[in-house]
Amino acid sequence: MELSTGSQKMAVGQQGAERAPPCVKCKGTCTGFQLHSWRKLCDLCRCPREDHALPTEVEEDYRIGHLLSDTSYSGLTARMKGSDGARVYKRNRMIITNPITSRKDPTFLTVTYEWAPPGLNQKLAMRYMELIPKKLQPVAGTEGAHYRRLQLLKQLPAYDYDPQYCKGLSEGEKSVMEAFVKEYKENVMGVAEVALPCSAKQDEKEANTTANNTAEEPAEKKDYLCDLCQNLMPADAPAVYADRAGYKRQWHPACFVCCQCREPLVNLIYFWKGNRLWCGRHYCDSERPRCNGCDEMIFSERFQQYEGKSWHVEHFTCTSCEQSLIDKPFVLDGALLLCTTCSSNRAAY
Ligand SMILES: [Zn+2]
Ligand SMILES: [Zn+2]
Ligand SMILES: [Zn+2]
Ligand SMILES: [Zn+2]
Ligand SMILES: [Zn+2]
Ligand SMILES: [Zn+2]
Repeated sequence: MELSTGSQKMAVGQQGAERAPPCVKCKGTCTGFQLHSWRKLCDLCRCPREDHALPTEVEEDYRIGHLLSDTSYSGLTARMKGSDGARVYKRNRMIITNPITSRKDPTFLTVTYEWAPPGLNQKLAMRYMELIPKKLQPVAGTEGAHYRRLQLLKQLPAYDYDPQYCKGLSEGEKSVMEAFVKEYKENVMGVAEVALPCSAKQDEKEANTTANNTAEEPAEKKDYLCDLCQNLMPADAPAVYADRAGYKRQWHPACFVCCQCREPLVNLIYFWKGNRLWCGRHYCDSERPRCNGCDEMIFSERFQQYEGKSWHVEHFTCTSCEQSLIDKPFVLDGALLLCTTCSSNRAAY
């Protein structure tokens, strides 16, 4: 039974990763994506998979469904048909249809948002979209939709939460990783909600926490400030709430960003630590070393470190000829680790 679940996951989650079209950046030289045995790039052209093709929407929803399953946010997922227990993310798509009245025959202009905050009526959801920069709005077929999906790969790489996507974890490392993921799912990770600043929901939660107060003053009209920019929240515009942060804090939709990369938190999935918001990647980086070679977190006691960067011992190899550089001279050129021969060959070009 265990085994069939595993191969099911492989089929949905990884098959696509190994067969993708040629690289968009290296037209002509790359004949089709071939996954390197452990680097997250193409063996033929050395570019990442996203330069060839993004994961399909099905794959994306499956991955996020897996991330949110076994958490208090599993209500955002649904059981996947034909699988035993796998869950898929119920991504909230929004389709807006506007009649074009200038023409004689009625025609309709349809705009699809590949993701919209759940739980809002269409008018508020549209206000939410207006409050984020146009180039980040996930309108199907635009840069904004592409950007959301790229950010998802960057902020929440599957190998940060699913050991099946990690290459070569030992059994011991796998259990350390599982404990690490369980801990952040229970105490750190959340999915934010969008609501009006003075919504009933917030007042109700506040009432619950201050129920024992003696004074029964009439509810005053309060000013709500954004936790990031400290500017006033307009009372009629939707604000973002993160339950891990408490309902006394709220953010402008454009201010709900990672404290490290300053990127908007994709699909409102956040990590709350030290009174700040983090994306998944940067939360993980704040807790564990990450391998500069394979981009996975390091769960082994032994690893290589140099100038603040880390590597799995077996991944401390030349990016060009792949020879091990343990106890050998090397050059670190930006993020590129090279042996001295490959480094001087490169300089000669
Ligand atoms: Zn390629
Ligand atoms: Zn390429
Ligand atoms: Zn703000
Ligand atoms: Zn970040
Ligand atoms: Zn590695
Ligand atoms: Zn080399």
